[in-house]
Amino acid sequence: MVRAMSILSLAGWAVAGAIATPASSAELPKVRVLATGGTIAGAQANATGYAYKSGTYDVAALLASVPHLDELAVVSGEQVASIGSQDMHDAIWLDLARRVEATLDSADTDAVLITHGTDTLEETSYFLSLVTSSDKPVVMVGAMRPATAISADGPGNVYSGVAVATDPGARGKGTLVVLNDTIHYARNVVKTDTTSVQTFSSINRGPAGVVHAGQIDWFEPMDRKLGKDTGFSIQGRDRLPRVDVIYAHAGMSADLIDAAVGRGAQGIVVAGVGDGNASMPAIDALTRAAKRGVVVVRSTRLPAGIVLRNNEIDDDAKGFVASGELNPAKSRVLLQLALTQTSDPSRIQRMFYEY
Ligand code: GLU
Repeated sequence: MVRAMSILSLAGWAVAGAIATPASSAELPKVRVLATGGTIAGAQANATGYAYKSGTYDVAALLASVPHLDELAVVSGEQVASIGSQDMHDAIWLDLARRVEATLDSADTDAVLITHGTDTLEETSYFLSLVTSSDKPVVMVGAMRPATAISADGPGNVYSGVAVATDPGARGKGTLVVLNDTIHYARNVVKTDTTSVQTFSSINRGPAGVVHAGQIDWFEPMDRKLGKDTGFSIQGRDRLPRVDVIYAHAGMSADLIDAAVGRGAQGIVVAGVGDGNASMPAIDALTRAAKRGVVVVRSTRLPAGIVLRNNEIDDDAKGFVASGELNPAKSRVLLQLALTQTSDPSRIQRMFYEY
């Protein structure tokens, strides 16, 4: 049975089942949706073509397309942004993080669901996981197919996302990412495929759980520090320190590294070859940068594995940080937040081990 829904109100909007009784609604958990755009809200020129525009539909329209959502929760929401997530940036992260914190502080909200484009979902989710202090669930969802596509995956992902957000097992797990019936910890999840609905993967550790038609199985717990234990504060900030990511390759020169330092980068993440390696000219330039106080993190352009400290490169001597499991995009997020507290590479190395 698909229920009629979509009740718009002046204070935002709310979705409620037309035939749900007030008593049953009162017992349901309350989920606040913060929408940012992305393919999940995208429209195609026609249902069989590839081309589409991210962030076309507002979230009220998106939620109205999800059958039976009103049986899981009372869902209300607001539009934070309407962008493709390739345009996500620090200012929206900071705004979003404050809204998440304020929303979860309210006794009227049990959980937050964020809709987001998939391109930078792995970064936004890790950022939120590091700065959100509440134990209440924060779940992010996206979609690989636009809302107008045949077999659009957005509605199913929203349903699963709300099911996870209202599950007691989601408390205290930091920000979770739910797509294609799979639950991921923000720290571990990466996008692996340009277009497939099976694109998100927790490569080194495996997923946090699975969700099928609202039924959830949780797997391993998260052993790394989350927002309430990191000590990061974004209070009073309207930007984060500049950190550039530089991609290593055969024949890499020092030019982009020197340019990043010249343009005021406080940190550089090198998307290294192999175990976070780079050419001799690049390593020399990174060593010079580290001597000037720029924090250098060695990550890898490879999809899996751990970047080891003091393996082929003497990080102790050069003052570098090894990224461990974090890929370049996630290393950049952690380094930006780390630099709000310190530029001491050994303290930052500890954060890469613990967060
Ligand atoms: N570029 C879009 C975005 O990240 C496409 C990815 C998606 O949403 O699936 O918003």
